[in-house]
Amino acid sequence: MSKQISSGRRRLLQGVLALIPIGAFAQSPGKRVEESEPQAQGLGYKRDASKADKAKFKNFRPGETCAGCRFYKGAAGEAWGPCEIFGNRLVNANGWCSAWMKKT
Ligand code: SF4
Repeated sequence: MSKQISSGRRRLLQGVLALIPIGAFAQSPGKRVEESEPQAQGLGYKRDASKADKAKFKNFRPGETCAGCRFYKGAAGEAWGPCEIFGNRLVNANGWCSAWMKKT
């Protein structure tokens, strides 16, 4: 009897896993945003705000970092945290991009 249940659960799990696109794992929230990615390049994201392209992104102001941005959801003191703009993937607390908005 328990073998039948176990077999049924296995089939159910296999069916559920088959429905999850492979891309869902590649874009998982825990993954760090790379500066080389198209979205990151478009927004001028840098892990180190001091390396932001100030000539291209004239809205940059010294002192702006991801930790002070309203889209940053990382815990205070953590080096990396989720960013809503990047699908809650991880950005550096000392990073910056042109979507920066002051945390309220
Ligand atoms: S939106 Fe804000 S938290 Fe996200 S990468 Fe840009 S500056 Fe950092």
